[in-house]
Formats: sequence, C-alpha cells, structure tokens
Amino acid sequence: MNAPVGDSGPRGDLAATTAELERVLRDATERSLRFLRNLDRRRMFPSPDEIQRLDLLGGPLPESGTDPIDVLRQLDDVGSPGTVGSAAGRYFGFVIGGALPVTVGANWVAGAWNQNAGLFTISPVGARIEQIALEWVRQLLELPVGSEGAFVTGATMANFTALAAARHAVLQKVGWDVEELGLAGAPPITVIVGEEVHASLLKAVAMLGLGRGRVVRVPADSQGRIRPDVLPRIAGPTIVCLQIGNVNTGAFDPVGEIARSMKETGAWVHVDAAFGMWAAVAPARHYLYEGVALADSWATDGHKWLNVPYDSGLVFVRSAADLRAAMSAGSAAYLIQSDQREPSHYTPEISRRARGIEAWAAIRSLGREGLADLVERTCRFANQIADRLQAAGYEVLNEVVLNQVLVSFGDEATTARVISGIQADGTCWCGGTRWQGRFAMRVSVSSWATTAEDVERSITAILRVAVESRRPR
Ligand SMILES: *Cc1c(COP(=O)(O)O)cnc(C)c1O
Repeated sequence: MNAPVGDSGPRGDLAATTAELERVLRDATERSLRFLRNLDRRRMFPSPDEIQRLDLLGGPLPESGTDPIDVLRQLDDVGSPGTVGSAAGRYFGFVIGGALPVTVGANWVAGAWNQNAGLFTISPVGARIEQIALEWVRQLLELPVGSEGAFVTGATMANFTALAAARHAVLQKVGWDVEELGLAGAPPITVIVGEEVHASLLKAVAMLGLGRGRVVRVPADSQGRIRPDVLPRIAGPTIVCLQIGNVNTGAFDPVGEIARSMKETGAWVHVDAAFGMWAAVAPARHYLYEGVALADSWATDGHKWLNVPYDSGLVFVRSAADLRAAMSAGSAAYLIQSDQREPSHYTPEISRRARGIEAWAAIRSLGREGLADLVERTCRFANQIADRLQAAGYEVLNEVVLNQVLVSFGDEATTARVISGIQADGTCWCGGTRWQGRFAMRVSVSSWATTAEDVERSITAILRVAVESRRPR
C-alpha cells in the first residue's frame, strides 16, 4: 500500500467514492464471470438477431446521465450476445489467441491503475514492467543481447516501427537523414518482399512513404516460403522483408539462409513473425526457427500466441540506436527527461496504455515451460484435426508444421458449403481462404483455452457438416 499523503478531503466524499467504485466494479466482475462461464454453451458467432439487437446500444445522443450499473447492464445484456466466442476454446478463425486468466486479471488491475506508459515520470511501474517483459521476451525468442524492443498495438504497428528503423538505417548509410529531410529527394529504397507477404506489412510500407506499388515481389514455393534462389541482386539502400508463420500454411521463410547471404550487401533484413516467432520456445518446432536471430528486426504479436488480451504487439530491433533515431520524440522541454529508459523514445505513440503488464503476467505465470506447453499443445491439436479430416477422406492442402491447417472438402462449392455450414452450426468457427488457386477451410489453433474435448467436439461437428454438405440442399 502507498503511504497516505496529506488529507484526502472530506471523509464523506472519500467513503462515497469508494462505495461507488465497489458497486460498479463488483457488478462488472459478476457480469464478466457470467460471460466466461457461459462460453462452453454458446455458439461461436452471434445470430443475425443478436447482431440486429446491437442497434439498441445506440439511439439519440444521451442528454442526461444514466446510473453506471444500468450502463453496464445494457452493455452486458445487449453487447455480450453480440461477441464472437474467441475467448472460448473452439474458435479457430484467423489467428486469434485467447486471454489467459492471469492476463485478464492483470488487465483489470492495470485498468484501475490507469497508467500512461509514455514516460518514466508519469508511470515508473509502466516503464519498468515493460522493460522487464521485453527482456524476458528477448530471451525467450533468442534475440541478440542489446536488441531494443517496444510494445505497440499489434504486428501491423510492429512492422511499421521496425521498417521505420530500417528506413532510417539504410538511408543513413548513404548520408541521408530521413527524420530531418523526409523522403522527397532521398535516394530510393528497394523493398523486397515474398509473394506471400502479409497485407499488414504492405500497409506499413505504404504508411512509411515507401510505396506499396514499388515493392519487389519474389516468388514463393508450394508452402508460401520465399525462394532464396530467385532473390534479386542487391544494390543501394535495401530492406528485405521475410515472414515466419504464413497465415495460411504456418510456413517459415528460410531466414537463416537469406540473412547470411545478405551479410555483405548491407541490406536490412526484417522478419514479420506475428505468431511464428513463438515457435522458438517449443522444442519440437525449434528447427523452423533456424537463423531467425540473424535478422535486423522482428515484429510479433502478444495477442495471438502469447494469449494476452487485445491489443498487444512487440517489435525488436538489433540496433537500439536505429530504433531510437526513428521513434525519438525530440526534446520538448515539458516532457521532463528522467535518467531512466523512456518508453516513448521507442514507440510511435507518446501517451499509451502500459500493455506490457499483461505480457509480464503471462510470462511470470507460465514460465518458459508453460509457454512451450501452450505452443506445443495447440500445434498437436492442429495436427490432430488435420489427421482426422484426412482419414475421413478430405484433403489437407498444407504441410502442417505449426498450428495452421487448410482443408478442401472437394470442389469450391462444396468447401464453401462446409464452411458456412460449420459457421451456422456454431459448435466451432472456421473461416475460408484461397490457397494457390484453391478454396479451403482454414483452421488455426492458437488459444490456451482449447482442450482435447473442444477438439473432439469440433472434429465431430465438422465431419457431420461435411457429410451433410456433399449435395446442395
Ligand atoms: C496477424 C498478422 C499480422 C498483423 O497483426 P495485427 O496484430 O493484426 O496487427 C501481420 N503479419 C502476420 C504474419 C500475421 O499473422
């Protein structure tokens, strides 16, 4: 407890404030617990009716106030049924992690703290806990000693932040200060990407003024891995963007091989590793991770496989000076500089929530062993789903090296019917994708909450829907 400082004002006011906080927060706790207890029985996607009812949250702009308990009641009664069941263990859409119980708890505590993690002076705990969590993650992911990191909103912003550091470094090498001079008149930068580049990386390229349409695309192999044999010759300022954990197949670009071949060229090697990065902690997947630490920057997510609440992304850059040069907030006098590490010198934001708190809680709670178990377990479940669907005569389109599975149930129309059928059934949720010209159901197992029973229930439902979908009804 903090020592009480001075007089907190009239006793009555303090007591009333405390009572009000208790009334509201206890109600919120009860509602949250009821929501989470219900997950096992609910459909993974809201019904059209439940989506329609969300309009009840609207209406005319409130002119007068409403009791906070009534506000929470409306949020819960109308809002909760309109959620996707991604906190449950049977949501296999996109790459969506759950939130470990300790991270939800830490998130509530952090919400009560309401810290601004931009500067040490406005949140010593925010600044320190992020530094600690970043160092733990650096070690878990085997990144070079001395790499600097930052917490951002997700892999999109992590890609943006890393590529800003890259842009700084490759232009500095040719004598151009991009932060001061901008890009007008600057020597051109070549950005090389694989054919299977994630949309968020191109978004980052666009936001940085590097031109989405100017990237050089390199062909990929059958699993979506960039082909090192057809990389262009490197000349001038160049950023090579690789990927580990393809969103469809889970495949890894051969980062080690390419990073070694780039060594003499001066090119910057960046790795988009939104979920693939966490394979580093899992002994049976570690072979995929060969050479990843040889790159210059890495972008990853906390809200995917680390299973912390939204939003949470992490960026690491080998050269701390390059990250700082790209992100430094300059020296406005009122942003009192302490002699501590200032988080806002490493992130696009100044004010921001201390999202390192949940990552700290996850790692403190799981330890390296628990995290390895989470990654291994979800990969095993993905393999199990692939094996069972294959055994039933359906085609798995990818090598299941990680937690991603692509399944074809026959022709495109049939596969589309299975996907909409399983989504309507509600037992689990899987999306669709197009993989090298073929339509497929996409299964991603990324949540701590997924149990063997969830997997069994989901496989049974998919197989039932697949049989029903053989003929158009
Ligand atoms: C999810 C993902 C992203 C984008 O991450 P956000 O957290 O949604 O910003 C980028 N790259 C890859 C490979 C991804 O899987």
